[in-house]
Amino acid sequence: AGRAGRDGKKAYPVILYQKTDEQKLVDNLQASFPDIPFIQQTYHYLCNHFQIPYGAGEGVTVDFDVVAFAKKYQLPLVPVMNALKFLERDTWLVLSEALTMPSRFKFEIDSAELYKVQVQYVKYDKLIKAILRSYGGVFENYILINEYEFARKLGLPYDRVVELLKSLESLEIASYLPSTDAPQLTFLQNRVDYKHLHIDHIFIRDRHQVKEEEVNGMIGYIERSNCRSQSLLLYFGEKNAGFCEVCDLCLIRNHQKKQRADIKAEIKSSLLAGAKNIHDLVASLTIGTEKKRIEIIRDLLDAEKILLEDNLYSWNTLF
Ligand SMILES: [Zn+2]
Repeated sequence: AGRAGRDGKKAYPVILYQKTDEQKLVDNLQASFPDIPFIQQTYHYLCNHFQIPYGAGEGVTVDFDVVAFAKKYQLPLVPVMNALKFLERDTWLVLSEALTMPSRFKFEIDSAELYKVQVQYVKYDKLIKAILRSYGGVFENYILINEYEFARKLGLPYDRVVELLKSLESLEIASYLPSTDAPQLTFLQNRVDYKHLHIDHIFIRDRHQVKEEEVNGMIGYIERSNCRSQSLLLYFGEKNAGFCEVCDLCLIRNHQKKQRADIKAEIKSSLLAGAKNIHDLVASLTIGTEKKRIEIIRDLLDAEKILLEDNLYSWNTLF
């Protein structure tokens, strides 16, 4: 759906610009909804990768590096990630949130007992104070903690902070659940032949349809606007973006603005050379369509830059 800028010279790069933006939306949509054979293929490779025998594998948990996996089987990463999500939805497997799940921490004793610990074990004093200052509710619930932040605050090496947190746990003063480095995958069902892999394709089709309508709405939105870049940013909540001045819509708008200015200048010099009737005035101009010329003459009349007397048009010399 390429609409060329009418400003001949710049049309070519503009078409490329426009296509990449809208093509990105379409590509993104396709990557989000891999087809059933792709999901089956991903499952098949996954089972091979971890050497899961047919009819076995339920409950097996493995460290899973999805980037290395996709690379090894030459699969595109984003569709693989989405295939995994659909496999997870249909309870074939479950993915850990190790990458996004930070460490958790909770005191297992009350504040009076904790105070005794601070007095008795001086080496924990600073860390405990820092935790109490940083987080509320640390006696009731697990809180998410960032070891690097404490290392920086206390001027200690990261490893030392982890060591202190671990020893608080071994003294049964606190529970410390460090985040695991490796994301994990657990097979929830025994391996089946990929042809018998049940995937809820109706769900995928429906979600795809909803998303597709959104994307089409967005593309329509871009096409109706004054500037493709501005409307794209507006769609993502950026209200203060100006015109980009390089997309085809900006070029058309600027071209029209310039044309109006040029027609006005011609009208002015024509009328300064002598008053004319409408027919002669329009005929004396060289730029724009007749309709456009008359439209601008009317605007100039409204603005009283042109005066009309006995069917003769003249330039108002006040301007
Ligand atoms: Zn623009």
